Amino acid sequence: MSSVALEEALELHRRVPVVDAHCDTLTKLSPDERLASRLPGTHVDLPRLREAGVSGQFFACWISPDHSAHRGLERAAELIDRFYREADASCGLLVPVTGAEGVRRCHEEGRVAGILTVEGGDALQGNLAMVSVLHRLGVRSITLTWNHRNAIADGVADARTGGGLTSFGVEVVREMTRLGMLIDVSHLSEAGFWDVLAVAEGPVAATHSNARAVSDHPRNLTDEQIRALAAGGGVMGLNLAPAFLRAEGQGAATLDDVLRHIDHVVELVGPDHLGLGLDLDGISSTPEGIEDITGLPLLTQALLERGYPEESVAAILGGNFLRLMEEVGMV
Ligand SMILES: [Zn+2]
Repeated sequence: MSSVALEEALELHRRVPVVDAHCDTLTKLSPDERLASRLPGTHVDLPRLREAGVSGQFFACWISPDHSAHRGLERAAELIDRFYREADASCGLLVPVTGAEGVRRCHEEGRVAGILTVEGGDALQGNLAMVSVLHRLGVRSITLTWNHRNAIADGVADARTGGGLTSFGVEVVREMTRLGMLIDVSHLSEAGFWDVLAVAEGPVAATHSNARAVSDHPRNLTDEQIRALAAGGGVMGLNLAPAFLRAEGQGAATLDDVLRHIDHVVELVGPDHLGLGLDLDGISSTPEGIEDITGLPLLTQALLERGYPEESVAAILGGNFLRLMEEVGMV
């Protein structure tokens, strides 16, 4: 293991687009907070994304259980509106984009490309037409379920019946495919995962899930799932949630835990199916040393020190998600 300066990691971030496929910052903002300011209570804001050298950030509109039963769509609309208001108030720092080209352009210009996603198909309220309505509003990915059952499928915490995709869920997957939207299987029950792979015609993402062989948590993917996801050309995003990084009762999660997941996935399927889906602002604590998004270059530094070729590190930092965005037809 050789020593690599942090500056070298930051220099790589400036050279290649870095993309994080999941944050919950939109749901953390209080009404008077501006994403363009440094926010003391969040992990992510625009100045810190710039400081960390992140060019592409997926912003999730999370439909919480409080909203999912009757007003999922209204909640999604509120958060979508918030996203555009933050972009309007950012003096061009946050640019809403819908595909890889927009991310690359923002990278060149030193801006942050924001990609809108909806976390929880409850936002559709059982109405297939809402998929294209969300698409018209700029949403380019839907996490089919959160932890619980919805009209599309069962979530990981609600899988007692072994339920996968419903008939409506199959239609949603087909409609998302037709529109060129990224299908996200994070939070989905295992039966649902296999159903999606059988129905989807192109590659899919698990935007924020880790490896279950390293840390046995239901939100993580088994080796069999990771192999199948990769075989279809999909990408999984590395999640910083301590509970998904190491088993409970073994002390605080560290950067080493993050590296164990990366090593495992790369050993299993190579470096082309892993990305970042850090889950910042969706998690209450972070691994030691990575207090917020500005800790990301430490991970890059550690990968370079471990001897990962720069090309593989660039793929993990953003290249793989950009390829996936292109492959599913996100424009
Ligand atoms: Zn989530």
